[in-house]
Amino acid sequence: MPMVHVLDTHQLGTSTIVAATALETNDGLALFDTGPESTFDNVAAELGEIGFMPTDVRHVFLSHIHFDHAGAAWRFAELGATIYLHPRGALHLIDPAKLIVSAERLFGGDMQRLWGRIAPVPERNVRILHDGDRVRLPPFEIRAIETPGHASHHHVYVWENNLFGGDIAGVRLGHGPPVPPFVPPELHIESWLESLEKIRAANPAKLYLPHFGLVQDSVPAHLDAMEERVRRWSAWFLDRIRSGADEQQLIREFAEYEKADLLTGGANETLARDYETADPSYMAIPAAFRYWRKYHPEQLAE
Ligand SMILES: [Zn+2]
Repeated sequence: MPMVHVLDTHQLGTSTIVAATALETNDGLALFDTGPESTFDNVAAELGEIGFMPTDVRHVFLSHIHFDHAGAAWRFAELGATIYLHPRGALHLIDPAKLIVSAERLFGGDMQRLWGRIAPVPERNVRILHDGDRVRLPPFEIRAIETPGHASHHHVYVWENNLFGGDIAGVRLGHGPPVPPFVPPELHIESWLESLEKIRAANPAKLYLPHFGLVQDSVPAHLDAMEERVRRWSAWFLDRIRSGADEQQLIREFAEYEKADLLTGGANETLARDYETADPSYMAIPAAFRYWRKYHPEQLAE
């Protein structure tokens, strides 16, 4: 049995919203996503509870470079860890200047509080993985699967019958349903659906989600529910944009639409608030506008 530990980053004092997932290997720990830099000490404390230290993390596999997933990667690199990720993500990890500018557009002056410090990862610590690449970490072999849709530079990782799902496999909290985090600027619906197919083809029995934790016994149903929401939510946005709704209006309407969907799907009010924290609904609006305008302008012109 692989020893897998879901570590709670306790981002902004919350519980079970943002995870980093650790796998014990013969060469120290492999960490799947790190959480933001602001929660590095919390992750260190969680590692302590299972008998490890941050220096035991020798390998860090990043699903993508959004700060809630990769923000602390440079801290582990500083301690000597190798950071594995998609080629397009690697450029921004080595030189985060552009990433910071685009994040400041989204988060304004709230960057430090939300994510902590951002610093470059030295190139010598970075190892680029392409689709299908394997990393031998006895007794495991970790395989990267390129899975765009949420971000163009997204990978999921498979070992044995386990799959680390990043954001493409959905946000699922407590007894709530899985939902797709639609965020700008790289949302691409067709890619998302293809990525879900690739995840199905890997046939995982256990799915580890950064938001949050282990899904097992119901992975096919989870993936079906994800596909249904990706299709329905993107169609809902197309319909609302075509009818002339503006961004401000859609921010309100989509927050209500998503909340109703969560409550129908088994969440209660408290859990629905946690989903908002993990994946703020307002981010879907610029994402959807950009997607429909850029890839299907003909649909909007009719
Ligand atoms: Zn993300």
